[in-house]
Amino acid sequence: RDFDDAGLHPVMRENVRLCQYNTPTPIQCYCIPAVLQGYDVVGCAQTGSGKTAAYLIPILSKLMGKARQLAAPRPNPTTYNPLTDRVRAEPLVLIVCPTRELACQIFDEARRLCYRTMLRPCVAYGGAPSKNQREELEKGCDVLVATPGRLCDFMKQNKLLSLARLKFTVIDEADEMLQDDWEENMSLILGGDSNEDADHMYLLFSATFPKQARELAKNYMSDEYVRI
Ligand code: AMP
Repeated sequence: RDFDDAGLHPVMRENVRLCQYNTPTPIQCYCIPAVLQGYDVVGCAQTGSGKTAAYLIPILSKLMGKARQLAAPRPNPTTYNPLTDRVRAEPLVLIVCPTRELACQIFDEARRLCYRTMLRPCVAYGGAPSKNQREELEKGCDVLVATPGRLCDFMKQNKLLSLARLKFTVIDEADEMLQDDWEENMSLILGGDSNEDADHMYLLFSATFPKQARELAKNYMSDEYVRI
């Protein structure tokens, strides 16, 4: 019931303090220990409940222990030439959400919580030119926040983005993404090689749980997920 007792990595504990989060919200009280213990989570949560931090804090805390080994390839910062230097983005964390506004909010929170972690967040959303987003990905990306359409566009560009190294996939506001092309997009996003990885954790958040969201949980998550 307290961030001090949660067993967070010291850098993450400090970032939580810098964000001026003094007391965990109810969803954070349940979600943070479950994720730290390695459970997949299905959470029923509304915007405003603190759910973004509820998944970002434990995910980033877990990665911090291994950040040096895991951090994605990046160009050398001292010799970086944006016209010639490119790396393929190979994020460790993928957060999929329905709208540009939500993607930007999550990205903002990820940026604050990634402070001094060596983990680099990026954002990709539709309805805006892709050039800047692509250039940011090419500088290296550990945490990718994305809307499904733009994410699938980027995934189809072979040299730009690979999801093969993912350790955490978060589907946020799943019920808002249930459209015609939902199944096609979700199977492209969730059906990659990293899905075979036993360590790969899945977190699903939704305000309501219609049949398609329940099926998603059944198909992709371990049988022993924690329901919040
Ligand atoms: P969310 O539900 O993720 O959209 O978060 C709603 C707002 O609550 C955001 O502006 C967060 O920065 C803020 N927030 C998240 N966790 C806490 C906390 N433990 N204490 C105070 N504010 C928080």
